[in-house]
Amino acid sequence: MALASGSDEKVCVMTYPHTQLFIDNQWTDAADGRSIPVHNPATGEVIGTVAHASRADLDRAVGSLQTGFEVWRSKTPAERSKILRAAAELVRARAETIAPIMTLEQGKPLREAMGEILAAADIIDWFAEEGFRVYGRVVPHRTNPAIRQTVVKDPVGPVAAFAPWNFPVNQVVRKVAAALAAGCSLIVKAPEETPASPAALVRAFADAGLPAGVLVLVYGDPAEISNHLIPHPVIRKITFTGSTIVGKQLAALAGRHMKRVSMELGGHAPVIVCADADIEQAVSAMGPAKFRNAGQVCISPTRFLVHESVKEEFSQSLAKFAAQLKVGDGLVEQTDMGPLANPRRITAMESLHQDAVQRGAEVLSGGARIGESGNFWEPTVLCDVSADAKVFNEEPFGPVAAIRGFEQLDDAIAEANRLSFGLAGYAFTRSLSNADRLTREVEVGMLWINMSATPSGELPFGGVKDSGYGSEGGPEAMECYLNTRSVAVLQ
Ligand code: NAD
Repeated sequence: MALASGSDEKVCVMTYPHTQLFIDNQWTDAADGRSIPVHNPATGEVIGTVAHASRADLDRAVGSLQTGFEVWRSKTPAERSKILRAAAELVRARAETIAPIMTLEQGKPLREAMGEILAAADIIDWFAEEGFRVYGRVVPHRTNPAIRQTVVKDPVGPVAAFAPWNFPVNQVVRKVAAALAAGCSLIVKAPEETPASPAALVRAFADAGLPAGVLVLVYGDPAEISNHLIPHPVIRKITFTGSTIVGKQLAALAGRHMKRVSMELGGHAPVIVCADADIEQAVSAMGPAKFRNAGQVCISPTRFLVHESVKEEFSQSLAKFAAQLKVGDGLVEQTDMGPLANPRRITAMESLHQDAVQRGAEVLSGGARIGESGNFWEPTVLCDVSADAKVFNEEPFGPVAAIRGFEQLDDAIAEANRLSFGLAGYAFTRSLSNADRLTREVEVGMLWINMSATPSGELPFGGVKDSGYGSEGGPEAMECYLNTRSVAVLQ
């Protein structure tokens, strides 16, 4: 497969910015001047640098966070909402400038980057409104009417947030918008590999009038930062998005220090295609979903369980869809799928692919690296993949669809639930009773039937089992940043 060409249609990016830390409402380099190179995944070239926070920077950052919290929590919901709404408007107004920066550092096609940024503005708007609905309640006493029992909700305190590189803006905004709407201050350790677009998001909040110390942004050595922040007495809550293995380490550390935690971790989403499914509908929903962001999506459809009677039709049709996708630099207008975000993913794809083929999988489409520069991997469809193949057990996080047949729905549900992951799931059926069974029995935090995913600010977003706990959407996301207290007064 060749890369999509058309360099004359390539969007021109003025300059890729050097990214600084944002501490106490000031953009600054690291105290010791250290920085980290940033690469363009489409070429492998170094395009810029990001400041690498030192211990002194982190201490200054946390100091400002406590002051920021006192100021922010004393604002009314209306005051907070006004600033959040202004930030959303700035994000919208700047989307066309931020999108090419995201594509340059992360690789996704420009239209996906635009979609992510505009969705971020909607998420901020939603939480700006939800902040008005942080209510307590009055609970009548059982025997004594003179006792007034109330339930009150307070912001949990300064938050430490850790976000990954696959959705550089979306992963940050879900944490920032909910925490700020709840009245918390927060320090974000954003991804070092894709630093400039989350910095542009933070800049929008700053320019919208956020007081000093309410939102802090750092980059550096992830383990060094989490080891410093999680035990820190000022930090009251941890939120992390990333792999299950790292999530478990951070949750264990937080547990030792009795800190509240939300974990949005890996997934390995089953897609159950029943015998009575509309196959055209299934392929047109799952094809784009599978190869969006080159499959580097925690809710990406990955384990396709297809009834034997429709397996041939479904798999051939999905392979045809994959084969016509144009792979290339995300800045080229014709590109449907960009490079993988870093060379680690290419190594992972090679290993998963080789293992699946060795265990008998049939390659219906793709299966190889494209070119020597940049992290390009062909959109890949594998059929009759063995259940013990690595790709059916480890989160692939890449552009590969692995298909297996099934005879009985019981077997498909058992296979869907076999892994310890439980983030997203998909199913296709025309039968109401199948849909009802799948709804009850598939162990995932988010299930979409006869459609692809519809994440939004208002819908709870999160997993069960090893995919984590806590939510990044809906009123449940606000709860993650609130303490609930009861107070009784004898009058
Ligand atoms: P990784 O596990 O090293 O890192 C995942 C994320 O966690 C990165 O953002 C990284 O900076 C951060 N991280 C790692 N160690 C940390 C620590 N000690 N403290 C704080 N943050 C830490 O792996 P990777 O190569 O970046 O990604 C590989 C896997 O991670 C993928 O295969 C996928 O399973 C998972 N991942 C999941 C998501 C998601 O949306 N849930 C996003 C990115 C990566």
